[in-house]
Amino acid sequence: MRLSLQVILLFTIKERNQFADKVKWSERLMRAETRQGLELDDIRYLTERFWDFHFDLIAARDPTALIIATIHINLCIGTLCNFIKDRPDLSDLLERLLKFEICGEFMLTEVGHGLDARNLETTATLQPDGSFDLHTPTHAAAKAMPPTTPNAGIPRVAIVFARLKVNGDDHGVKPFLVWLCDADQMRRGITSRALPSRSGTNMKPLDHAITTFDHVRLSPNALLGPMSKPEDERGDFLRQIWRVSIGTLSLSITGISAIRVGTHIAALYSQRRTVAAPDGRGRVPIMSFSTQQRPILDGWTHGIVLDAYARWTVKEFMNPRCSQPMRHAFAAIFKATITRASRVLNDLSERCGWQGLFPYNQISELELNLQGSQIAEGDTLVLCIRLASELLGDKYTLPEPRDPSIVLAQRDRAGTELTFHDALVTAYDEVLPDLLKAVGESEVNDYVTAPIASEESWTIFVGELPSFEYPCDGAEGYQPEL
Ligand SMILES: Cc1cc2nc3c(=O)[nH]c(=O)nc-3n(C[C@H](O)[C@H](O)[C@H](O)COP(=O)(O)OP(=O)(O)OC[C@H]3O[C@@H](n4cnc5c(N)ncnc54)[C@H](O)[C@@H]3O)c2cc1C
Repeated sequence: MRLSLQVILLFTIKERNQFADKVKWSERLMRAETRQGLELDDIRYLTERFWDFHFDLIAARDPTALIIATIHINLCIGTLCNFIKDRPDLSDLLERLLKFEICGEFMLTEVGHGLDARNLETTATLQPDGSFDLHTPTHAAAKAMPPTTPNAGIPRVAIVFARLKVNGDDHGVKPFLVWLCDADQMRRGITSRALPSRSGTNMKPLDHAITTFDHVRLSPNALLGPMSKPEDERGDFLRQIWRVSIGTLSLSITGISAIRVGTHIAALYSQRRTVAAPDGRGRVPIMSFSTQQRPILDGWTHGIVLDAYARWTVKEFMNPRCSQPMRHAFAAIFKATITRASRVLNDLSERCGWQGLFPYNQISELELNLQGSQIAEGDTLVLCIRLASELLGDKYTLPEPRDPSIVLAQRDRAGTELTFHDALVTAYDEVLPDLLKAVGESEVNDYVTAPIASEESWTIFVGELPSFEYPCDGAEGYQPEL
């Protein structure tokens, strides 16, 4: 799926003045995406179109819209899909979610329970009439992160994970469908406290919030799935949150567009920006320095290789013969790889000098947003700890390299690090002309808004900055004596 360039250009930087407007901006963009894109079966059965959505370069155009989209599509609609067979009453809601008339949220994390969300404290107590009382019993039980304010001007509904209490007995963590707010106000008993804007989202803020429930009365059909106490509490919890493990891979894939767009901007700027030539005659573009070329080449090649690697991972992940632990391993390895590769964005923003620090030039914004993705839907470090312990415990083995003789496959074996390094230096020189040609022709251009990308966009940007001048015309008179 692809959002047309006209729709993107409708929302220029100029529009984003008020906080509430900024939130609306992203949601409008997202509305267009949802309209143009995925159908319920794509989300339910993880079709090619579902995965393609995450490869789309549009992800880098507005990282805030991307976060809204991934929560809405994968976590909220994806979880609801599990229940539609036995719950035809959900079809109206699903239709409205698909049209993005309602924004879907997924509320698992609590202030006191992140990676150990299985121990969450929010309660849903069964009442004599079959309804439920949803309550936040302690400060630590407040739900953290999902955007829940009415600032976005759109009704919001959430899948809220709470501990089901039946006659004083704990029936484990269950998902409940909860109306959070209408387009202009919160629903009764629900308080959303908007967090200050997150670094990297200052230009396109998202109303991440701390949300609490004060004895909110839910109808009996708010419970998704059975009320019974599970025999295997851990297994049942993992089944309830299974879309998070899809997100481990799908959200990581969106990092590829961040690397591609960030690299592209640094390459354009490095060809435009000139400094005095070392011999003092004329000026040379900073791209002529190998210290500039290296991170740009790193980013460019990572973009190409990670795209191919991601497509391979999706194929293995979707292979019906692939076991669940292996699926998890493939997703974790991909996420760890993209986490490491994304460090290039820090180098690239540094190589653009002061210009690289500003989010309007996209690179630092993309980098900070990728940091968020590295925590959300499976914290990378903890995924790696789990992967390593499963490998050491011989729970499964990973596929061998297809060609064990190539330098890359031997990289970590003794004595080969040097060969690898030599091969890399030669490759940098050989690949540079391809990079320069590709930058000129790339489709990535459509997703660049950084003013530093061209002389023309920079001139427009400076012309639109708030300007302070002496009120009278002309430049007569001297400066007052100091
Ligand atoms: C952009 C973004 C969007 C989000 N959106 C949502 C959302 O829509 N819904 C939602 O429910 N949540 C959301 N989250 C929250 C996210 O799911 C949590 O941040 C994540 O689960 C980690 O929890 P935590 O941040 O509380 O980290 P903690 O659990 O406090 O962990 C912090 C650190 O402690 C260490 N640690 C913790 N446990 C272990 C362990 N077992 N072994 C070793 N080290 C450990 C690790 O270093 C870890 O990074 C979002 C987060 C981000 C960044």
